[in-house]
Amino acid sequence: MHEVRPPSDVNAVVGGYLRDLAFAQASPQKMYGYKRAAAAIFGLETPLTELVAADGTLPRIPGIGPGSTRVIREVLESGHSPTVEDAIGHSDRQADITRRRRLRQNVLSRAEVVRVLRDPSYGGPSSDEYRGDLQMHSEWSDGSPTVDEIADSCMARGYTYAAVTDHSHGLKIAGGMSMEEAAEQRRAIDAVNASLGGRFHLLQGVEANIDIAGALDLDDDEATTFDLVLAAPHSRLRRNDDQTHRMLAAIAHPHVRILAHPRGRISGSRAGVVADWDAVFAKAARLGVAVEIDGDPARQDLDYTLARRALAAGCIFALDSDAHTTAQLWYADIALAHARLASIPADRIVNCWPLDRLLGWLSERSGAAS
Ligand SMILES: [Zn+2]
Repeated sequence: MHEVRPPSDVNAVVGGYLRDLAFAQASPQKMYGYKRAAAAIFGLETPLTELVAADGTLPRIPGIGPGSTRVIREVLESGHSPTVEDAIGHSDRQADITRRRRLRQNVLSRAEVVRVLRDPSYGGPSSDEYRGDLQMHSEWSDGSPTVDEIADSCMARGYTYAAVTDHSHGLKIAGGMSMEEAAEQRRAIDAVNASLGGRFHLLQGVEANIDIAGALDLDDDEATTFDLVLAAPHSRLRRNDDQTHRMLAAIAHPHVRILAHPRGRISGSRAGVVADWDAVFAKAARLGVAVEIDGDPARQDLDYTLARRALAAGCIFALDSDAHTTAQLWYADIALAHARLASIPADRIVNCWPLDRLLGWLSERSGAAS
């Protein structure tokens, strides 16, 4: 098994410093500029160490001005940025910036994702083993694509199946589907499957919301109309009180197959649910509920450190993009990179199973609410 070391992710270090510099600015315009610069660095496919020429010059990177270039040079030379530390020291935002730094741990840049996917020494799943994405959003809730566009884009990525998982009716803020809309969406998905004649299979999933007590915004009769039920927390994500009971209750629901973005963290912004994750993972393992690695760049939830603990607890996993546009389907690569860093065998990842095995698992009902 690969010895897992902390990723030497220079683009994440630079991107983090540029985020810090953004929050140290008094001018909203400068703050926006550095946030944009940070996003540009996080989104590069090549590490900055490989972009810098022998004479020390950097190529033009869209969104990167002279101030950001200085930070890049400092980090490439020393691993640190005195310019950013100085700006933080002279701002009145030290406490906020320190808090934000703690909240972006184990977040991978795109260049690091590319490196991890190419490095054959990691024990986890390869891109070729990944057969389909099980969390994404369409025009039926807060996503933009039609179900036809989703099927086309997933086939172009080489998938053999995918699940459209729009929000359930309880989450009004995300355009949650009424059950009437869900029935209409089912007909649209059936039409896509009929037109593809078995070359690709689109599942109708749903992302149910976990309320503060751990109940779902779907009753049992409603849940059975979907091929796949994900449950995910979308509230109480900035509190320090223990919410283990909430997560245990959610996964005990007999229709839940995937615990999606389990913490609900947002990198650099909020920590998400505080819980005894080893207890949650143990119960998920016992009930055959998959824990998700959500690949949205701002989520990366679970990250590879927590995923390792879930692996040790005996969990199975879902690796999903949580895409809201077809251009975001590549976020599944971010989930794959975390799975590789955690050395999760492909056999423990439901997205790597053939369709028959996946459908068999989806039709199981644990029935136990213990
Ligand atoms: Zn969600």
